[in-house]
Amino acid sequence: MDFLHNIAVIGAGMAGLTAARALQQAGKSVQVFDKGRRPGGRMSTRANAYGLFDLGAQYFSVRDSEFARFIETFEQRGVVTRWPGVMAHIDSGRWQTRQPEHPRYSGTPSMVTLTEAMAAPLEVHSQVRITSLSHESSQWVLRDQEERVWPGFDHVIVAIPAPQARELLGSETALRWALPEMSSCWSTWVRFNTPLSMPAGVDTWDGVSFDDSPVLRWAARNQTRPGRSEGERLTLLARDDWSDRYLERDPVEIADDMVSAFRACYPEALPAVEAQGAHRWRYAQPRAPIEKGPGYRLDEEMNLSLCGDWCIDGRVEAAWQSGHRLAQALCHL
Ligand SMILES: Cc1cc2nc3c(=O)[nH]c(=O)nc-3n(C[C@H](O)[C@H](O)[C@H](O)COP(=O)(O)OP(=O)(O)OC[C@H]3O[C@@H](n4cnc5c(N)ncnc54)[C@H](O)[C@@H]3O)c2cc1C
Repeated sequence: MDFLHNIAVIGAGMAGLTAARALQQAGKSVQVFDKGRRPGGRMSTRANAYGLFDLGAQYFSVRDSEFARFIETFEQRGVVTRWPGVMAHIDSGRWQTRQPEHPRYSGTPSMVTLTEAMAAPLEVHSQVRITSLSHESSQWVLRDQEERVWPGFDHVIVAIPAPQARELLGSETALRWALPEMSSCWSTWVRFNTPLSMPAGVDTWDGVSFDDSPVLRWAARNQTRPGRSEGERLTLLARDDWSDRYLERDPVEIADDMVSAFRACYPEALPAVEAQGAHRWRYAQPRAPIEKGPGYRLDEEMNLSLCGDWCIDGRVEAAWQSGHRLAQALCHL
């Protein structure tokens, strides 16, 4: 692919960063654009006066041997750590511990530590939202929210959630790829003034899923991750149907409702809340399991491609696989 030298990657989440790193290592000139303040996308961590809270991905599991090798290099650098967290679920009020099927990892001290380390050798333009793409004199030209023009790209990789890709590319281009819908997720962080009491017979827990809450699907204790400071800090994730229904509600009310829902599910009385807040993920996870395929979308004639978790499965590892496979395909053109 000698004719593909200058490559733009839109989206600095796990998928975009993975593709960008592989292409840069193959000798390409790569520029990455992201609308966020820091690279990471849905692997983001809120850092505030009350501590660190993972608001998106809670941890990631490693099943694929190539992803395992990739993670090992970051584990050796102390950027990620295996997290032998104690996982449970509450079903009809019964507390049950779950054994993880695959090894789980967490960024050290936060999820975003990994994506920042991945972004370090790359040219990343943060807080740049790409609003349009056009093909001019056989090269791609990008335009951003401030009407700045970024010309001269041989190939563009769109590594953003499918509905946002549809909006950026326009329905005609997007239709050819049948981009899937994605569900939303409200994520609430809450800091308590003393540690939680443990349910009867339970020594400790790190994450719990809820089978019969109409509001919540998951709660995690942030302070138990490797490298984190003390202080009882939970992340609560809402069910996707509940999140979709209340997508436009005030985050203050959302946080209140989600903490009340946790109070209703948790078998012990809760300590006093010191602070809380809610974050909305408009596009959190693909709605349906993805069809079998290469794990990315590529139009060789247009010199345009797409990658992201939604091409495979709504997980960090799948986002990595999508970016990795796309970069390999581009290197073999
Ligand atoms: C609440 C929640 C919990 C989750 N829990 C887990 C979990 O426990 N384990 C797990 O493995 N996975 C989990 N996931 C899924 C995981 O976070 C994703 O699969 C993965 O991070 C997706 O990476 P990505 O690169 O495909 O997309 P993203 O991380 O969404 O990256 C896309 C990037 O594109 C940027 N962008 C979008 N539009 C534009 C534009 N026009 N211009 C410039 N930039 C743009 C965004 O700012 C973003 O940084 C969770 C997700 C959520 C939301």
